[in-house]
Amino acid sequence: MYNDVLLHIDGQWRPATGGRTIPVLNPATEEQIGTVPHASEADLDEALEAAKRGFATWKKVSAFERSKLMRKAADLLRSRADSIARMMTLEQGKPLPEAKMEVMAGADVIDWFAEEARRAYGRVIPARAEGVYQLVIKEPVGPVAAFTPWNFPINQVVRKLSAALATGCSIIVKAPEETPASPAELIRCFLDAGLPKGVVGLVYGVPAEISSYLIPHPIIQKVTFTGSTPVGKHLAAMAGQHMKRATMELGGHAPAIVFDDADVDLASKTLAGSKFRNAGQVCVSPTRFLVQEKVFDQFVDKFVAYAKSLKVGNGLEEGVQMGPLANDRRIPAMEALVADARQKGAEVRTGGNRIGNKGYFYEPTVITGLTREMRAMNEEPFGPMALVVPFKEFDEVVEEANRLPYGLAAYAFTKSAKTANAIASQVESGMMTINHLGLALPEVPFGGIKDSGYGSEGGSEAIEAYLITKFVSQAGL
Ligand code: NAD
Repeated sequence: MYNDVLLHIDGQWRPATGGRTIPVLNPATEEQIGTVPHASEADLDEALEAAKRGFATWKKVSAFERSKLMRKAADLLRSRADSIARMMTLEQGKPLPEAKMEVMAGADVIDWFAEEARRAYGRVIPARAEGVYQLVIKEPVGPVAAFTPWNFPINQVVRKLSAALATGCSIIVKAPEETPASPAELIRCFLDAGLPKGVVGLVYGVPAEISSYLIPHPIIQKVTFTGSTPVGKHLAAMAGQHMKRATMELGGHAPAIVFDDADVDLASKTLAGSKFRNAGQVCVSPTRFLVQEKVFDQFVDKFVAYAKSLKVGNGLEEGVQMGPLANDRRIPAMEALVADARQKGAEVRTGGNRIGNKGYFYEPTVITGLTREMRAMNEEPFGPMALVVPFKEFDEVVEEANRLPYGLAAYAFTKSAKTANAIASQVESGMMTINHLGLALPEVPFGGIKDSGYGSEGGSEAIEAYLITKFVSQAGL
């Protein structure tokens, strides 16, 4: 069910030179389930040279052929979804149905980028002289270095990988050491579909060692990272220093605004479902629930009832709705935020504690009585924690929503079209979804502003990030 994971370099699955490995744990049991290789500098050099050759090969393959191969990979991924989902649950903890959904959604992402690959149009600009053609041509940027986190082991890789392959780039993926098997299986689908060797490389190791080697390297032309804001700023600075294009998908602290004219039942159910998905370890997870006074108590009661009703357990067990947190760092992170809030006078309405002492389980947690001085109101919890805060006026809620340096996702519930328009235009965020959950489909932009990063991982904007624009002016002889 779970095998040791290997590096993939220059068409070969193999261990690291020197044989070093890192253990992989099941977060539900804390047991070791396998190992992942710790790539050496020599491995990275080989991966880089292979990516250079892979790019030379792949950029010559027509968009039509690239697209066909990608669709085949998507079909393979769908056909292997059950076994890959099990691996994901074992290494990451999320309930099996969520893992399966992630794998299937990954196949949809590949299909979408495969179709879009054939539409990376340039344009012709009218010339000032007869017989002159002014052409704008789109070309692949070159070998890409991608760094992806452990919360969505497939989804975080597939967006970067699909955009790179669609445009004709080669790519080296530094996938998460904590959840390495499911992204490796994703890459296997592309190889089994016939991807030429060197076009994709897969490495694991010490993230800082790998990023500080790959980003400045002259072979790498583009950097893409998903993870925390501090790491993103560090990598973006490095990319800037070496004049590399970069996409940064970083942290968030999403406001979810519920106006008093909203369908409170719908709002509480929809938002609570979203909050506790993947145990809250989601960059777009709603976190600050800003609820208008008149419906505050009603919202809190319904939200708390939902949180209490959740079945928390090993994601492989039938009926489990929330698994453990993905690694041992998340438990102390939750405990510190809850202790700080309690000490400063907040009320923990449900949850607030670790469950048991084996496996990284934590209770779905709802907190009220919050103030801006509390750490949780300022730092991304990245866990199953909902902070519910009342507000009176429209301007006040806009001010609170925009108070933090983050600007990734925002949510609102209202029956008024006027309020919906006003809130969509005034909240500073890269994405806003109103009266439903409408984020993260392959065909729509996905990305943040402010400290949440820049660039998009969805929609046609995502393809653009892997293309360079070349201008050719040509006169007839
Ligand atoms: P972290 O900040 O150390 O790492 C976040 C991610 O970045 C991990 O995948 C890690 O492997 C990678 N990383 C860290 N240092 C790196 C470096 N120098 N070069 C390249 N990659 C590097 O923290 P963590 O404990 O893994 O996760 C905690 C925080 O990260 C969360 O609180 C959350 O804010 C953020 N996070 C965000 C996302 C997201 O989807 N945006 C996903 C996972 C984690």
